[in-house]
Amino acid sequence: MILTAVKKVGGDGLFASIIEEIGGENAVKVANALSDKDEATDEEIAEKTEMRLNAVRKVLYRLYENRLASYRRTRDTRTGWFIYFWKLNPEKLRNLIISRKCMVCQRLKERLEYERGNMIFHCGDANCEQLTFDIAMDASFKCPNCSKTLIFVRNDKSIELLENKIEELENELRDLKF
Ligand SMILES: [Zn+2]
Repeated sequence: MILTAVKKVGGDGLFASIIEEIGGENAVKVANALSDKDEATDEEIAEKTEMRLNAVRKVLYRLYENRLASYRRTRDTRTGWFIYFWKLNPEKLRNLIISRKCMVCQRLKERLEYERGNMIFHCGDANCEQLTFDIAMDASFKCPNCSKTLIFVRNDKSIELLENKIEELENELRDLKF
């Protein structure tokens, strides 16, 4: 339930990709199974995901190492064995999502600054790089890679796209932080 909330504000893709990066596809399955309940035992998760118990445990420890999951344990009065009840740690996940989004946002801002501050030239070939005015002038407006003539590229569209994306990210970050 908690995770659904994180998912909603954090974006499905990012949530899944962070979990997947940490523990692979199996981790996404386990996290999804855990998110439906407040807590669950490894056996319950194995049943729900149709994964082998060993695989479930491996994923749980992986999430635990990254502090994305935690457990409490109680002793089974009949068998004397410990039973582990696992739950996700949405706060940690939220912080991870926030720091990823901040990083992306920062990169986009740097790109925006570059696009705003530079006249950009390109030869039109997808394999060649875009060049700033100074570099294009030094190259006598011929592409250093393919020698075709460099042409001024209007970048209003890129600037607009970047601005929109940054605004979108900043709104998402605001929702995540409060
Ligand atoms: Zn070129």
